[in-house]
Amino acid sequence: NGRRLPLIAGNWKMNLDHLQAVALVQKLHWALKDAKHEAGTVELAVFPPFTDIRTVQTLLDADKIPFSLGAQDLSAHDSGAYTGEVSGQFLAKLDCRYVIIGHSERRAYHHESDEVVAAKVQAALRHGLVPVICVGETAEDLEEHGASAVPVRQLTAALNGVAAGADIVVAYEPVWAIGSGQAATPEQAQDVCAKLREVTAAAIGGDAADRTRILYGGSVKSGNIAGFMREPDVDGALVGGASLVVDEFAAIVRYQK
Ligand code: PEP
Repeated sequence: NGRRLPLIAGNWKMNLDHLQAVALVQKLHWALKDAKHEAGTVELAVFPPFTDIRTVQTLLDADKIPFSLGAQDLSAHDSGAYTGEVSGQFLAKLDCRYVIIGHSERRAYHHESDEVVAAKVQAALRHGLVPVICVGETAEDLEEHGASAVPVRQLTAALNGVAAGADIVVAYEPVWAIGSGQAATPEQAQDVCAKLREVTAAAIGGDAADRTRILYGGSVKSGNIAGFMREPDVDGALVGGASLVVDEFAAIVRYQK
């Protein structure tokens, strides 16, 4: 889709210390130096652990590496007595453009409800961060309700109270596809992403929904990325495991339609 710059996002999860992060970013930059992402036809974003962000920011800035930076989570609060939490204002000061919110691992292991996710979306927007709102159904949900019911409910809740025209990214990640090696088909992804664009339009307006990147995530590899990118409502990918492997991630960024 010509109106939306494709976004390939690498979620490192709890992998790579700050020195390993430097090595990966440098290798990725070398692998992509002559690639089209440098020409502005695809945006690449990395989401390191919190402890790596300052170091990665310094490297991106010093070597003029054109990757966007994001965090994997943030606090719903701005500051105060919240031991162990990280404020969106700290992330914004480190040049983070994005923050992942509501990843299925946070929903499952940290019991993040739709309400918590919505509060974090508000926190991100307060601090000028673009929330990457993750939604997706489990295998049980799929069996009981079909593919789109749970993602539609989750996104509707996450966008509750978000102003018209807000700058957001949505990531459709079927839980059964994450880390399983069993990706959704491009047709399945398109079907749900189209419905998520309707939810987005109802919440923040048709123009904003037209501008919103909707990503597919779940076992994306160099061998299946092109099929997803051919779909009209899939504007990129959120990549877990494959984002840690330089050649594999570089090949995903260089996907050919
Ligand atoms: C993820 O956790 O966001 C993800 C998509 O993981 P993977 O690519 O490893 O399935």
